[in-house]
Amino acid sequence: MEKIQPSKKRKKKNIPYLGPNLLFYCYDCSLPIISSNTCPICDNKVNLVPLTPPYDVRPSTPYETSEIIELIKATFGNNTDIIQMDDVLLLNHTGSEDHMDEIIFYGKSIGTRRYDLTSNSWILKLNGYGLSLLNGKKINKWVMIDDGAIEYIIKGASVLIPGIIDADKNIKIGNYIAIIDKKHKVIAGGIARLDDTERKEKKKGVYAKTYQAADEYVQIHHTKRSWKDIVKWNEQELMRLEKKALFFIQKIIDDLELPVMVSYSGGKDSLVTLDLVKQALPDGNYDVLFVDTGIEFPETVNYVKESSRKLGFEDKLIIEQVSSKVFWDAFEKFGPPGRDFRHCCKFAKLAPIQRVIDKLYQGGQCVSFVGQRRYESFRRAITDIWQNQYIPNQINVSPIQNWNALMIWLYIYWKDLPYNPLYDTGYERIGCWVCPSSDMAQFKILENSHPKLYTKLRAAVEKWKEEKNLPNGFWEHGLWRFKQIPKKISNVLSLNLNDFKTTSKQNELSFMEIESSDCITNPVTVIGSFSSRINLDTVSSALIMVGKAQFNRKLNFIRVSSKKFAVILYHDGAFKIIFRKQDNLTKYGIQNAIENFIYTVLRAVECINCELCVGKCKLKAISISNNIIFVDKKKCTKCNLCAEACPIVTIVHRKVKETIKQTLKETKLQ
Ligand code: SF4
Ligand code: SF4
Repeated sequence: MEKIQPSKKRKKKNIPYLGPNLLFYCYDCSLPIISSNTCPICDNKVNLVPLTPPYDVRPSTPYETSEIIELIKATFGNNTDIIQMDDVLLLNHTGSEDHMDEIIFYGKSIGTRRYDLTSNSWILKLNGYGLSLLNGKKINKWVMIDDGAIEYIIKGASVLIPGIIDADKNIKIGNYIAIIDKKHKVIAGGIARLDDTERKEKKKGVYAKTYQAADEYVQIHHTKRSWKDIVKWNEQELMRLEKKALFFIQKIIDDLELPVMVSYSGGKDSLVTLDLVKQALPDGNYDVLFVDTGIEFPETVNYVKESSRKLGFEDKLIIEQVSSKVFWDAFEKFGPPGRDFRHCCKFAKLAPIQRVIDKLYQGGQCVSFVGQRRYESFRRAITDIWQNQYIPNQINVSPIQNWNALMIWLYIYWKDLPYNPLYDTGYERIGCWVCPSSDMAQFKILENSHPKLYTKLRAAVEKWKEEKNLPNGFWEHGLWRFKQIPKKISNVLSLNLNDFKTTSKQNELSFMEIESSDCITNPVTVIGSFSSRINLDTVSSALIMVGKAQFNRKLNFIRVSSKKFAVILYHDGAFKIIFRKQDNLTKYGIQNAIENFIYTVLRAVECINCELCVGKCKLKAISISNNIIFVDKKKCTKCNLCAEACPIVTIVHRKVKETIKQTLKETKLQ
C-alpha cells in the first residue's frame, strides 16, 4: 500500500509542498495533458506548465470564465477581449488571504485573480504575458510615459510624475494599470499610488509602482478544443489512473476483509471515488453513506438522491438526516464555527457517521472509501489510509489521493458522470453552506445564489458580534471564520487582534487556587469555581468517571473520592480538591487530576448529546440520554478515553490547561 509522505521542501515561503506539478501542454496542438509523455497528437515532447504551488489545477467552468472576462473588462475596459467563452482556460487555486486563482490561458499563465477582503471583490493582476496580450486593444487604466523613462520602468523603477505624458483620468489609487509608450505599446504593469486627479495637482513624486515588465507580444495560433476532445487525447492516462485506483481498492478490500462503505458528500471527488468502488465491486457489496448535516445546500441533497438513481446505487444509499437545530444550537452556545474551531463537523458529521457505522456493522469496523486528495491541504497530503480519532471503527482510504482536480474533472467528463449542479454556478468546493473553510469569494456567490441562507448566516454572525462587542468587519472581512485570526489576514486588514478576543456563553472554569502545605495527610488542596451554578443532578453520574461519587441531596453537594484525592463540588459552582499524601505526587499528576475533574463537570453541564463519547468507550460504560451522561460504575475504569472524543473538551481544553498550568507554576509544592 502506497504511503505518501509530504516532502519538507518548500517551493515558496509558507506554501507547503503537497504534490508534483502534473500539468503538461503541447503548444503546437493547444492540448493540456495530465502525464509527462509525448503529445498524443503530434508525438512531440510536451512541456511542463510553470505554475505556482500547490498545483491543484482545474478547468475553468463557463461561470468562472465569464467572471474572468468581466473582470478583465472591469479592469482595462470593454474592448479587452483577450479571452473568449470557448477558450480553454484552467485555474490554479493558490495561496492568498482568501482566494486566488492563477489563470492559465492555452498553457500559459496570464496572471491572477485575487479575492480582496477589503473591497470584497476580485482583483485582476496580469503578469508579463497577460500584459502583452493587451497590445493592439483599446484599453482603459493606462499611463503613457516618456521614451526616456522606458528603460528604467522595464527594470522595475516606479513611474514618476515628471515622466508621464498622459494617463486615463479614471485611474484611482490602488488600481492595477498598464504602462504604455507613445506608440501605445504595453511595456509594464503597475499599481497606482495616486488618483489621476491628484497627479495633475503635483509636479513630482511617484505615480505608480511598477510590478512587472510586459513580455514581447507574439501572435500565437490556438486551436480551440472542446473538453470532450481534451478527454479523448488524455484517455490513455485516464485509463492508467483508473486501473491503478481499481487495483488499490481491490487490494485494500482483500487485505482488510471488512465491510465496505463509500462516504458520499455530493462533491466531485466522492463522485469519482464512488464510481471507482462501483467498478471494483461489481457484486454491489457496499453501502453508500451521505450525512445530511441539516446545513447542506438543497441542491446537494437533491443531487445525491438523483445521482443515486442515475448511477444505480439507490438501494445502497443511506441518508443519515441530522436536524439543522444541532448546528444552530451549537452556534448559539459556542458562536460561529471556525477553521480552527470546527465544532460543527463533530456534532453534525462525525457523530452521525459513528452512529450509522455502529448500527450497520454491529459495533464492528468498516473500510470507508473517501474522496480525499493530497493537493487539497497539508493534512490531507500525509497519507491515503487513516483513522479519525472520533470514529475508531472506521478505516478511511482514498483511492484518488494523488489525483489533481484536472484529473478528477477529466474522469467525470470521460465517464459522463452526473455532477453536482452547484459547480456550474461558481462553487469550487461543495460542502455545507455555512462552512468556515469556504472563502469569502464563495460567500459572495451564496449571497446571490441563496439570499435567504446568506441572510440567515450573516444575521447569526452579526448577532454574535453585537453580543461580544466585536469590531466592525467581523462578517464583511470573514473574520468570524477564525478563533485566532491568521497573520496574513490581520496584516492585509491592519487589525488589532486584541479587539477580537471573545468569551463564550458556556460554563467555564472561572477561578482556581492551589495551596501546598506540610500537612502529613493532605499536602495539596485546590479550590476553585465554575462561572455558573451547577445542576448537581446532571453531573452526579458523570463524576463516576473521576471516582466514587456520592450525591448528598440534603446538603446539596457531591463528594467524589479516589485513592489519590477527594473532591467536593457545590451547587453554586465552587469546588475543592484535596490530594491525599502519596509517594509520587507530582505537578503532572495534579494537573491531570484537576483537568479530568473539570472536563467531566463541563462535559456533563454542556453536553450536546452528540454521543461521540459512546463510540469511544470500548467497555460500553457510558450512555447519553437527553443531554445527561450516564456512567455504569461496574464497567467504567476511569480511563478518560471518552473525554478525548468530546467536542466540549476540544472547545475548553486550551483555556483550562493554561489556567491550571499557570496556577501550578505559581505554587511551590512542599
Ligand atoms: S471511556 Fe473510560 S472513563 Fe469513559 S466511560 Fe468508558 S471506561 Fe469510563
Ligand atoms: S459528553 Fe458525550 S454526548 Fe456529550 S458532548 Fe461530550 S461526547 Fe457528546
